[in-house]
Amino acid sequence: MQNLLNRFLDYVRFDTRPDESNQESPSSINQMLFAERLADELEMTGLAAVTLDGNGYVMATLPATTADERPVVGFIAHIDTSPEAPSKNVSPVVHTDYDGGDILINAMQKIILSPDDFPELSKYKGQTIITTDGMTLLGADDKAGIAEIITACEYLIANPHLEHGTVRIAFTPDEEIGRGADNFDVKSFGVDYAYTLDGGGIGELEYENFNAAAATVTIRGRSVHPGTAKDTMINSIMVGQELDSLLPHHERPEYTSGYEGFFHLYDIKGSVEETVMKYIIRDHDPVRFSDRKKILSDAAMQIRTKYKGAEVDVSLRDQYFNMKEIIEANYYIIEEAMKAYRKAGIEPVIKPVRGGTDGARLSFMGLPCPNLFTGGHNYHGRFEYVPLQSMEKAVEVIINLCLSEKKTPK
Ligand SMILES: [Zn+2]
Repeated sequence: MQNLLNRFLDYVRFDTRPDESNQESPSSINQMLFAERLADELEMTGLAAVTLDGNGYVMATLPATTADERPVVGFIAHIDTSPEAPSKNVSPVVHTDYDGGDILINAMQKIILSPDDFPELSKYKGQTIITTDGMTLLGADDKAGIAEIITACEYLIANPHLEHGTVRIAFTPDEEIGRGADNFDVKSFGVDYAYTLDGGGIGELEYENFNAAAATVTIRGRSVHPGTAKDTMINSIMVGQELDSLLPHHERPEYTSGYEGFFHLYDIKGSVEETVMKYIIRDHDPVRFSDRKKILSDAAMQIRTKYKGAEVDVSLRDQYFNMKEIIEANYYIIEEAMKAYRKAGIEPVIKPVRGGTDGARLSFMGLPCPNLFTGGHNYHGRFEYVPLQSMEKAVEVIINLCLSEKKTPK
């Protein structure tokens, strides 16, 4: 328990923010420094075949302790943290024996983490809660995952009488900017299946995610002096606005939940001459997903017809797909996880991810890979926190999965 906490507190102090503007892998040097540090620690912990490749991917092996035929199971976490919140000088605060009320996370700035704002906090009464000081994110996403995987390996190494098959672990860069699977060497990882440790609160188990596409809409208008603009000016900003108004108004992130998909206009830059609008399109259902892409293309067509003098260009790019079909064809991976949760006294809560995971992309690269909880909450922000007891349960789940006596499925 102490090792787990110390590890986590140590890891979050590394600023591992990715840099989307850098096309290299990893996208930031700090990620490489942390990867080097993790590779050293894995060696010291007694793992075998520790590798760190030039792209910042760390891999290692926990050798089998039985000659029985068992599947090779992998565990994966990511080393970067979200670029959406400050991540420099993370200064974690450990609150023991949480009383169930408001937590003052920064006395100077009077910043409070309150169950009034985040009701699930009250579930953790009596536990040890690790928070930020309200100035940065915490980085439990995904350093909790890394700490949990290494702590589970450490336990199994210290208890060699416990019989398990070969276990492989991997830490990947740039998950938060959607590139975590880009340079993942599935072949050299060499597992039958794997789990990402990248979920939220205790009990979460995820194997459905969005189908995802990105769209850039570029509108070229016609700029003329406003004084003589009558019947000649085409203001691309207004045309863009009109195009956006043709999309279903209530299918936006702020109005949707569960299995409801959306269009999300997240960036717009415009002048009379040219307006560029960036969207992401999301839907769990593959049919509704293609319908959505068509709705956007149709809207552009309608605008082109109306404004003959304007140019309307839509460039659509698929980003990732729902791993559900892959996982359902290998459903024993979920059954194994549910068994491991229940053995740890946790009732699995299966819910669709409203986003994507590295596991989704890895699943389509031939490595089925659902997502397990790490225990954290309020990811990507200053109110991120993680109960230590949830992290311990994640360690227990990993150990249970390693010790499963399941034979390699044929
Ligand atoms: Zn994550």
